[in-house]
Amino acid sequence: MTAADPVLLIAGLFAAEGAGEYPGEPVTQARHMLQAAALAEAAGAGPELVAAALLHDVGHFTGAVSGHQLMGGTDHRHGDQGADWLAQWFGPGVTEPVRLHVAAKRYLCTVEPGYFGSLSDASVHTLRMQGGPMSPAETAEFEGNRWCTAALRLRRWDDAAKDPHARVPAFGYYQPLLRQLVLQRARELGEAGARQN
Ligand code: FE
Repeated sequence: MTAADPVLLIAGLFAAEGAGEYPGEPVTQARHMLQAAALAEAAGAGPELVAAALLHDVGHFTGAVSGHQLMGGTDHRHGDQGADWLAQWFGPGVTEPVRLHVAAKRYLCTVEPGYFGSLSDASVHTLRMQGGPMSPAETAEFEGNRWCTAALRLRRWDDAAKDPHARVPAFGYYQPLLRQLVLQRARELGEAGARQN
């Protein structure tokens, strides 16, 4: 299995690392991400945002630091790690909401009354390592990011995707969508390269 087929590579990660528990939550990491994708699709999100929901915690699989270490007090910036890894094959419509989904939590803690109280214990715990609620300057900067709205939508699905009884499609269901996005990105990059020559 090589990076030449990113969809198979990711499928393998879901099957292996994804089977592990999601520290502090009642679902595995893979089921959590599959649930987030199902919620995105049910909400009418476009293919890129459905893919972002599906892959939002892939930084937990690929990073040097595990979710357990995050729970133990290390912020391993899984949003950035996941986004940078995914950028090998996917465009910003997928990578940037993934990158910003931790910032979106910090944002909502500041601007939305009641949001903090709705977080799971594990999510409150990691919030501290992630910088806590945003300052007013940080919220203004976040609102100026063009991926702000997409990141906030993804965050809602992330927060809701912790139901141990939810029945959702398996990873294979999303493979055609992922393949389509990888192809689309390769085409975009190819055209950009051709324009430069
Ligand atoms: Fe998550």
